[in-house]
Amino acid sequence: MASSLHHIAILGCGVIGLSTALAILEDQPQTGRGSRSFVTIVSKEVPNLDEDSGGAGQSSSKKPSAEYASLWAGGHHVSDAKSERELRYDKITFERMSLLAREKPWSKKAAVTSGLSSSSVLPVPPAQTSNDAEKQAEPLVWVHQTELYEKADGPQIAARPPYEGVLDWYPDFKPLPQFSLKGGLSHGCTFSTIDINVPVYHRWLLHCFLELGGRLVVAEAKSLRQAVQLATSPASSQVVCKDIATWRQAGKVDALVASPGLGARFIEGIKDEAVHPQRGQVVVVHAPWLSADAPSWNDKPPHKLPGYSIVRAQGGREVYVIPRGDGTVVCGGTRIVDDWDPNPRPDTTKRILERCLGLVPQLADPKKSAGLTRPRAEDVQVVGVNVGLRPARRGGPRLDRAMDDVDGVKVVYNYGYGGAGYQASWGAALDAKQLVEEALQIPSSSSVQRRSAKL
Ligand SMILES: Cc1cc2nc3c(=O)[nH]c(=O)nc-3n(C[C@H](O)[C@H](O)[C@H](O)COP(=O)(O)OP(=O)(O)OC[C@H]3O[C@@H](n4cnc5c(N)ncnc54)[C@H](O)[C@@H]3O)c2cc1C
Repeated sequence: MASSLHHIAILGCGVIGLSTALAILEDQPQTGRGSRSFVTIVSKEVPNLDEDSGGAGQSSSKKPSAEYASLWAGGHHVSDAKSERELRYDKITFERMSLLAREKPWSKKAAVTSGLSSSSVLPVPPAQTSNDAEKQAEPLVWVHQTELYEKADGPQIAARPPYEGVLDWYPDFKPLPQFSLKGGLSHGCTFSTIDINVPVYHRWLLHCFLELGGRLVVAEAKSLRQAVQLATSPASSQVVCKDIATWRQAGKVDALVASPGLGARFIEGIKDEAVHPQRGQVVVVHAPWLSADAPSWNDKPPHKLPGYSIVRAQGGREVYVIPRGDGTVVCGGTRIVDDWDPNPRPDTTKRILERCLGLVPQLADPKKSAGLTRPRAEDVQVVGVNVGLRPARRGGPRLDRAMDDVDGVKVVYNYGYGGAGYQASWGAALDAKQLVEEALQIPSSSSVQRRSAKL
């Protein structure tokens, strides 16, 4: 097979854009023969990689906007799939994340970003993490998850359990016996899943992207056409990459994957009015003492860290507890449709803490709550309060090929993942990669297993 070179641009450096870029890059042939792709990500915001993690991995001086959802997610892998396609994405992602959690490739990659070319205005990833908590932090951790379902008001419709077909495929899945459920709850279940330490995982994805030869262009694109232009000939002050010399061969862009999250509502060439924010506020707390209890009627939980959520009768999780494995725990939350307010609301913070304490009293500092029958919100050690806007889309995520090319460049849309972008990320990325391969007539290169082994 003759060798061929392609240049693929990705608009957006959230978990969807980054995972798509990695899905393309990780399958590059090792020899000079076969099809090779250059990948440039164009994004107006990128993580502040040189900062301590704090509440969400960001410093207050350069705090990213609430619209950059990937930096503010919880995040747990607990499927809420509304379609076969979403369930497939969640399962593929879970498979990939399970493999990563087992193989821990990040432990071998502490110094991946040495030798980067970048201007001083850009965040340069450090060779090593910079605070003690982060040194111990794993991007992905196993948890023992408990899901509780509120009872609907009014006459009960005899329906199948709400977790059936959505959660019962997770390892160690068990329904909770009815007698163990408190009043107000109709169902419950436990299973093993993965929590994503979002600041650490997202940064690790970016490290892998740069290490695999990707190029990052930090700039805003007002249109798809401008995104293509920025990827083709960026100003040198905007570029971060490992080996600038290699990029001389890159040439014009052949395909663009548009993953701009909420930006899809405003960018010329997309302007998708179905895209809207679902505002989420979370409280990050310090609770390294949290651990899974074994109820008297059940076996020992398979994992020490416990995750919880309560699913409302009308759907959606507003009470959730997501341990990150580094001693911090994300307590949530809210989901307010069409609310663009990026500022935390103090009354919401208090309500979140009270609801999470009602579910998991162990969140309180044991020294402060000793002797109290009900721990109070002020007994919890708050590390930070974050607001993020989930990039939702009426009608579900959009992942398809555009009808029209932009100046001869094939376009694939990949956005609208709302509150599920992390748990759907690898499934969405592999489908987007396939659409790019079809558009450019690149022979498809790999199986999921082989892809999984690369990162
Ligand atoms: C509070 C909260 C809790 C969450 N919990 C979970 C969870 O537990 N599990 C889960 O799976 N998901 C969770 N999510 C959802 C998840 O964070 C999102 O689905 C995911 O981050 C979306 O990723 P994205 O890449 O599509 O968008 P984003 O992360 O928003 O990225 C969009 C990118 O596009 C760039 N961009 C936008 N416009 C332009 C432009 N004009 N020019 C150049 N660049 C542009 C941005 O700078 C950014 O880099 C949560 C979200 C929130 C807010």
